[in-house]
Amino acid sequence: MEDIHKNNASTEESVQTIEEIEADKREQIAVLGASDAENCSFSQGYCKRQALYACLTCAKDGQPAAMCLACSYNCHDDCDLVELYTKRNFRCDCGTGKYHRKCKFDESKNHLNDENKYDFNFDGKYCQCRRPYPDPECPEDLKDAEMIQCILCEDWWHDCCLKLTKEELDNEDNDEMICPRCLCKPGLSFLRCYSISNTQTEIGTAECTKPINEPKSESGSFFFEDFRLKICKCVACMKLITDAKIEFLCDYADSVAAYEQIGIDAHEEEEKQADGQINNFLDKLDHNGQMEVAHGVSFMRQAMKEMCEKAQSNGGVITAEHTAELKRKLAERTEEMKRRRLNQ
Ligand SMILES: [Zn+2]
Ligand SMILES: [Zn+2]
Ligand SMILES: [Zn+2]
Ligand SMILES: [Zn+2]
Ligand SMILES: [Zn+2]
Ligand SMILES: [Zn+2]
Repeated sequence: MEDIHKNNASTEESVQTIEEIEADKREQIAVLGASDAENCSFSQGYCKRQALYACLTCAKDGQPAAMCLACSYNCHDDCDLVELYTKRNFRCDCGTGKYHRKCKFDESKNHLNDENKYDFNFDGKYCQCRRPYPDPECPEDLKDAEMIQCILCEDWWHDCCLKLTKEELDNEDNDEMICPRCLCKPGLSFLRCYSISNTQTEIGTAECTKPINEPKSESGSFFFEDFRLKICKCVACMKLITDAKIEFLCDYADSVAAYEQIGIDAHEEEEKQADGQINNFLDKLDHNGQMEVAHGVSFMRQAMKEMCEKAQSNGGVITAEHTAELKRKLAERTEEMKRRRLNQ
C-alpha cells in the first residue's frame, strides 16, 4: 500500500531509491490503471472495484466518506487525503451530503449513497490495532510489518497482527488473505476448509467438493489464487455462501489481482500505441530530422545514465539535486539546438 498522494507524508522523503521509484511506478499502474483519472465514476453507480480516497479536510462532522480517483485529482487536490487502495461495490461520495465541498464534475449531487459501507479505514485507521498508514509514531514491533488486505472486510492488517505462523507468512502461494476477525464470524468459518494450511483435503460427497475438515485456529488464513474458482457451488454450499452474503468471493473478477490486471493490460496497450505513433512520426521525417531525434534520444539516455550512476554512488538514492541537474542538462541542450537552427 503506497501513499500515492503523499499528502500526509513526512518532509524527509524527497529521497527515494531507484528500486523504490520503479516499484512505486509498477504499483501505481496496477492500482490506478483500471480507475479513470479524468471522469468521476459516480454515473457508473456502485463500481465493482475502484481506487478510493477519503478526505479529512472536507468531511462533514467527521462522517466517513470516500471519493473516486478523478475527484481526488480534480475536486480535492489541495486536501488532506487518506488513500484507501481499492474497495468493492462503492459509489463516489464527492459532492454528496457527506462533504462540505461540491463536486466539480457535477454540482447537483447532494444525495447519500445508501449501499456504501464504511469502517475505521475511512478515518485513516487500519488493522485490529487501529494504526494509521503511514504511521509516524510506529511502535517498535510494527516497524518491519507488511500490510495485507483481507478479501472479505477489505481492512488492511499488519502481517504480525494476523497471528499466522512463519511458514504461513513465507508461503509463496499466499495470494489471498481472510483475517481472523472475519473467519471467527458465525457462518464464515467453513472458508477455513479451503485455506492453504488445511492439509486434509478429503471431500464430502460426489456432489460436494468442499473439504470436510475445518482446521481449528484463532488466526487468519491464506488462500491459493484460484481458490475462488474451487469453492464448491453445490446446493448446501451455495446456501452457506448466500446466507453469509459473500457471493462476490466466487467471482474471480472481484479479486484485486483481476482488477490490477486490467490496469496493467491498459498500460501495455497504451505503450504499444505510443510506440506506433512514434514510429509513424519518424517515418515522416527526412534523414536530417531522423538523425536529430536519434541524437536527442541518445543524449537523454546518456544524461539519465549519468544521473543513475551518481545516485548509485549515493546508495541508490535519487535526490532533488540529481533531478534538477538532469533538467538543467536537457534545457541547455534544447537551447543549444535552437541556436544551431537559427544559425543555419
Ligand atoms: Zn467522483
Ligand atoms: Zn477535500
Ligand atoms: Zn468530485
Ligand atoms: Zn496491526
Ligand atoms: Zn476481514
Ligand atoms: Zn458443496
